[in-house]
Amino acid sequence: MHSLKILHMYPAMLDLYGDSGNVEILGYRCKKRGISLEVFKHDLGDRETDFTDYDIIYLGGGADFEQQLLADDLLCLKDKIRAAYENGTYFLMICGGYQLMGQYYKDSNGKKIPGLGLFDYYTAASTNKRCRCIGNIVVETELDGEKYKVIGFENHGGQTTNVSSPFGTVLAGNGNEFESKTEGYCEKNVTATYLHGPLLSKNPKLADHIISYCMTRKLGEKYTPAEMDDRLENECRSLLFKRLIG
Ligand code: GLN
Repeated sequence: MHSLKILHMYPAMLDLYGDSGNVEILGYRCKKRGISLEVFKHDLGDRETDFTDYDIIYLGGGADFEQQLLADDLLCLKDKIRAAYENGTYFLMICGGYQLMGQYYKDSNGKKIPGLGLFDYYTAASTNKRCRCIGNIVVETELDGEKYKVIGFENHGGQTTNVSSPFGTVLAGNGNEFESKTEGYCEKNVTATYLHGPLLSKNPKLADHIISYCMTRKLGEKYTPAEMDDRLENECRSLLFKRLIG
């Protein structure tokens, strides 16, 4: 039986709107393909974690308070996390996790939280706490050469700029900034997005894209996951698309 390892970072602190569900969806879809997904956790103060040991590193979303609390811990791990990224580990990051991998996040109190600086983008929130991007969002991205609509829910004060390769084009909702045309950040081994949902339950093809990437990397040859019965997921998606983009 094949196996993959995922490292869930700060699971108790970065888990907004059911973001941990992303790990469950990956586990479920792996299992259906005969792959066991082993889940490991990295918590505040852990110093022994070898980040290069994992196929996937996952960070969920978090409020300004939690982001502030874990920023120093994250900074101590900078070189180790960079090594995993350069080694090809897949990084999936949602909202607060996405922000923390950039240059910095200036929160709604005007306090600058240093980011890991893995990527060039940076984020600043309005000091008017009511000024937030909230609501359903639809983004069009490209997965393995095919266009795919990604659906989710956004709730962020942070406005992210200097994004060199966005995750997708906004069809409904805000995205990286108020009324932005672009959303998130991506590279071949990175998906960073504002979309909660949880993201992967609403967008099964994205989960399979991550599984394909990791298995192909592991096996050294192209891996294509077997089709699954996604009728229910697809029906939900059609209904939501009708409602949000007509
Ligand atoms: N605290 C950040 C913001 O408001 C991230 C929020 C989130 O993860 N949903 O922008």
